Amino acid sequence: MQLPVINHTDYFAKIGDDHKFPIQKFGALANYLINKNIVEKFYTPYPCSEETLRRAHSEKYIKNIKNKTLDQNTIKKIGFPLVDSVVKRSLVATGGTVLASKLAMKYGLACNTAGGSHHANFEGGAGFCVFNDVAVAAKYLLNKGLVKKILIVDLDVHQGNGNSDIFKDNKNVFTFSMHSKSNYPAKKSISDCDVELENDTEDKEYLNILKFHLIELNKENFDFVFYIAGVDIHFNDRLGKLKISDNGIKKRDEIVTENFFSKRIPLCGVLGGGYNKNIDKLVELHSFLHQSCAKLI
Ligand SMILES: [Zn+2]
Repeated sequence: MQLPVINHTDYFAKIGDDHKFPIQKFGALANYLINKNIVEKFYTPYPCSEETLRRAHSEKYIKNIKNKTLDQNTIKKIGFPLVDSVVKRSLVATGGTVLASKLAMKYGLACNTAGGSHHANFEGGAGFCVFNDVAVAAKYLLNKGLVKKILIVDLDVHQGNGNSDIFKDNKNVFTFSMHSKSNYPAKKSISDCDVELENDTEDKEYLNILKFHLIELNKENFDFVFYIAGVDIHFNDRLGKLKISDNGIKKRDEIVTENFFSKRIPLCGVLGGGYNKNIDKLVELHSFLHQSCAKLI
C-alpha cells in the first residue's frame, strides 16, 4: 500500500527570504516526494483545534499566538516573526502530526512533512518551535484511550527538551533523546533517557550506539512510537555539530523504522530540524524518512 503522508501548502510561512530557517524546504520536499513517486497524493490536515492544543499548552500561550499578542521576549526565543502565516503554519503543522498519528494507528506507519517542534513546552515556544506537535498528538492518543504507552525517539541533533519537560511526570510517555552534547539547548532538560554525543562521532559509532539503545527500548511494552528524524546531524549542517554522512542518515532511518514496524508497533514519523545550506541536499536527507517507511509498508 501507499505510505500515508501529510502535507499542506501552509507549511510554508513568510518569515523573510534571508531567514536562517530554510522554510522553503517544506514545499520542495513535497515536490520531491511526488516527483520521485514516493508519494502519490498527500493527506491534507486541518489546523489543530484549541481543545487538542490545550492538552500540551497553556490556554494563555495558545491565545497569545492566535491573537499575535505574545511578549517580545518569547517571540525572540522562538526565532520567527509572529505574523499570520506563521500562526497558520504552526496550527496546521500540529494538525498534521495529529492526523499522521491517527493514520499510523490505522496503517502501522504514517509521516508528516513537517513537525518535530520539540523545543516548545507548556508555557511557550523556543528554537523555531511554536507548538509541540508531537506532545499534542501524544496526549491526544492517550486521552482518547487509543494507546497506553508511548515512546518518543528523538534523533534530532538538538535535545528534545520540550518533550522531556512536558512529560517529566507522565509515566505513559517515555522520552528518548540522542543528541550532540554541545548543541542547543545549553542547559539540557532531563529525558527518560538522554544520550549525549561528542562532536566527532561518526557514522559507525553513531549507528552502533543507536542499535544498542533500540535493543534496550525493545524490552519495554510501547504501543506507539513518534520518531523525530532531524537531519541536522549531517556533517554539512549549518547548526548541527555532528559529522554524520548522507548514508549514515539513510541507515539510521531504515534501522529505526524497520525496528518498530517489524514488531507491529505503529510509528508516526515527523521531520525535525535540518539546516543544510544546499536545499536540494536538505530535501533529499529529509526524504530518507519517507523513503524508508514507504519501502516497509
Ligand atoms: Zn534540531
